[in-house]
Amino acid sequence: MKCKFCDKPAFIKLHYPKMYLCEEHFMEYFERKVKRTIERYRLLKPDERVLVVVSGGKDSAVTAHILKKFGYNIECLHINLGIDEYSKKSEGYAVRQCKKLGVPLYIVRVKELLGKGIGGVRTRRPACSYCGLTKRYIFNKFAYDNGFNVVATGHNLDDEASFIFNNLMNWNTQYLAKQGPVTPAGFNGKLVRRIKPLYEVTEREVVAYALANGIQYEMDECPHARGATTLEWKEILNQMEEKRPGTKINFVKGYLKKKGLFEVELCESELRECKICGMPSSGEVCSFCRFWGLEKPMDFRVKE
Ligand code: SF4
Ligand code: ZN
Ligand code: ZN
Repeated sequence: MKCKFCDKPAFIKLHYPKMYLCEEHFMEYFERKVKRTIERYRLLKPDERVLVVVSGGKDSAVTAHILKKFGYNIECLHINLGIDEYSKKSEGYAVRQCKKLGVPLYIVRVKELLGKGIGGVRTRRPACSYCGLTKRYIFNKFAYDNGFNVVATGHNLDDEASFIFNNLMNWNTQYLAKQGPVTPAGFNGKLVRRIKPLYEVTEREVVAYALANGIQYEMDECPHARGATTLEWKEILNQMEEKRPGTKINFVKGYLKKKGLFEVELCESELRECKICGMPSSGEVCSFCRFWGLEKPMDFRVKE
């Protein structure tokens, strides 16, 4: 098959909108889509300092690549989760990706910082649950301590659709109130604005873009991902997408229109300062300090 716009052979078949594109026209299409997301949701201003959280995987690598290509002022943070070989390999990928891009990379290692890695803590809580809270706390505090205006993560359309689907199925309305391409800054700047530039591109498109740009990334799944329900929701949504192209984007856009239904649940005034670290918390001690049993705040300021 040939590209819809030129005589070159097709590099990818897109299902929605249905068309074949050569490598060059696919890159143009992908970049235009991400640019439109940034503009439509006012994700970024040109002079802002952006911290991109890079995991070593494809999504965050593509996020860093494209923001750099668009000329934004980015620096990267990798959080090594201390999950044995998987984390070692992931860190290696993050280091090489940033080197190739020519952007500064900071590394925070959970095991060095907190004594145990993800999966190594004796708790009834599933690894993914305290992994999520640990990552979110670290990247937000790192950005706050070092004066970044915004944190960019690599979430794509498939991640968002499955997150919304999962939380709808479980009626976790408090999570549904907070989701979207941008989470505004709050609590006197202690909650740094968070953005998702890949919000409207599918996982399959991200893989193709990484391939077209020679971006190498960690392909193995985290050992704790096995059996994660997110993967099951993704599979269901993929089946739907195959039968009815456009399902995911319409589902996510529909959610953004109706999100107001859940917003009563979100009340920032209920937040207060954690008595250990001073960061926003819904109780006396924030979930990060409580989970890791901290007695004093962590300081992520980078020494010159
Ligand atoms: Fe963390 Fe779970 Fe993701 Fe592994 S699968 S990186 S434990 S959230
Ligand atoms: Zn073409
Ligand atoms: Zn705290």
